[in-house]
Amino acid sequence: MTRDLWLETHSYLRPLAGLSAAIDGAAAAIEGFDARIPDWDDYRPDFLAGVPLLSSADAAVDLEPGGRMASALLGRLASGTSPEWLVADCRALDQDLRRVPNGSRRIADYLLGEETLIPPFPGLLRYLAWTAMARFLRPVVNAFDGWRDEDRWLRRYCPTCGSLPAMAQLVGVDPGRMRLLSCGCCGTRWQFKRTGCPFCETDSQRLASVTIEGEPGLRIDHCESCGGYLKTYDGQGNETLMLSDWSSLHLDLIAHERGLRRLAASLYEFEPERHI
Ligand SMILES: [Zn+2]
Ligand SMILES: [Zn+2]
Repeated sequence: MTRDLWLETHSYLRPLAGLSAAIDGAAAAIEGFDARIPDWDDYRPDFLAGVPLLSSADAAVDLEPGGRMASALLGRLASGTSPEWLVADCRALDQDLRRVPNGSRRIADYLLGEETLIPPFPGLLRYLAWTAMARFLRPVVNAFDGWRDEDRWLRRYCPTCGSLPAMAQLVGVDPGRMRLLSCGCCGTRWQFKRTGCPFCETDSQRLASVTIEGEPGLRIDHCESCGGYLKTYDGQGNETLMLSDWSSLHLDLIAHERGLRRLAASLYEFEPERHI
């Protein structure tokens, strides 16, 4: 399944696809840096205690260059030829952040949940800055995937950045079939229990599944205890498209109509469709 084929049968997703492509294109054009791979032995005790990699003082991954990439992306979009609303919002954000001392570091802290900034368009900033930061972190995310003992994590939040999952993926065949959770922020995928709700504090096992007509690779798993749902990609090979969240926005609408709650993390909370 390619992006173009997907859009042929889901034409209502074109505006979001266009926005995502414009931002990815701008991100590819800025100067990139690579995060330094931490010493895994230093991080191991924190890992076993459930501390995400980026929150670990012992792993000490410096996110400042990623924050610099985010600032550069913002500057590029603010002076570019993207949709008018995007240029205007980016310009306002860019001007606001230029007034802040140590802006790159503050952006990085902001992404990890510190209330260090009060930007005019917080949702848009999170989306743009995570796009840049995920590129910066890619070598670390890949190395972490190779090092991590999945059986020692199995937590509901991302082992790299600590976010709740945006989506899930089922991979492999029984008896080895397993469920991965997918982070919409840093791009990590990690293993979680095959059944069980990642949002309930009570560890609910009461999950039900809704399959969608005409969408054999996607389904909605929802929890009968908390009403939360998780869009699930039931396949392999098209992760970039199918786990990108925007490509299954119609499933969020179906879930909403059923009265389910989106407890999954989302970088689309700035509602770009209101502008398009
Ligand atoms: Zn993450
Ligand atoms: Zn639940």
